[in-house]
Amino acid sequence: MAQRVALVTGGMGGLGEAICIKLAALGHKVVTTHSPGNTKAQEWLDSMTKLGFSFHAYPCDVASFDSAQACLKRVAGEVGAIDVLVNNAGITRDTTFRKMDKASWDAVIETNLDSVFNMTKNVIDGMAERGWGRVINISSVNGQKGAFGQTNYSAAKAGMHGFTKAAALEYSKKGVTVNTISPGYIGTKMVMAIPTEVLESKIIPQIPMGRLGKPEEVAGLVAYLSSDEAAFVTGANIAINGGQHMQ
Ligand code: NDP
Repeated sequence: MAQRVALVTGGMGGLGEAICIKLAALGHKVVTTHSPGNTKAQEWLDSMTKLGFSFHAYPCDVASFDSAQACLKRVAGEVGAIDVLVNNAGITRDTTFRKMDKASWDAVIETNLDSVFNMTKNVIDGMAERGWGRVINISSVNGQKGAFGQTNYSAAKAGMHGFTKAAALEYSKKGVTVNTISPGYIGTKMVMAIPTEVLESKIIPQIPMGRLGKPEEVAGLVAYLSSDEAAFVTGANIAINGGQHMQ
């Protein structure tokens, strides 16, 4: 298997860490980005070194085009051209639409959706010129079905898949695939921040498998989509949700 350079945005978060570990275990050079204000980045890198992984890490505000461009230029110069881009960074600012202010709308759209433009724009034409590339967008089941209190998040995550389908068409003859993964509830910090009683009474009962997903299960799907074997998969939105939502 060819060694690739893979960049995972938000790679120090719950899902991102599992994705970084899986791609590194497959022999890829893995770059992660973190927020410029993340004071725990070095601590995370040290903990990964103890586990035997050596990741490259760069500050990058994915919501800012200039920050993304500067970061990706540095990565190209210092690590190499990016073959696999995993647009994973994301945030929630949940509240009912009635109470949602413009700042919560903008933050979620900029971080979850504008970020896909900011990052992809700076790498995909290079992938096309080299004739091989993978763009994997981490969306959400709530982008497929909507969720109470998440008009901003559902809009951003649904928008990601619209992007995926259009970009997949444009790059389909260039060896570059563009796909969406839509996880259901995965047991990361983002989900564990939901009060236990809400998890147990409202969320788990919606999942036919009766459990949260594991970050490693999503990472396994990212690994597949990044592989040569997945060359014929493009423009897909792959659900990984324990049967919670089927389309
Ligand atoms: P985490 O909160 O653990 O991780 C999110 C990551 O995004 C963090 O590492 C954070 O980096 C990064 N991030 C946030 N804002 C920015 C920014 N402006 N610039 C750069 N990085 C940023 O969440 P998860 O791991 O749970 O989620 C990962 C992705 O999966 C998200 O897109 C989420 O929407 C999606 N998802 C998650 C599900 C779940 O059940 N957990 C279900 C469905 C989808 P830093 O810490 O450095 O700020």
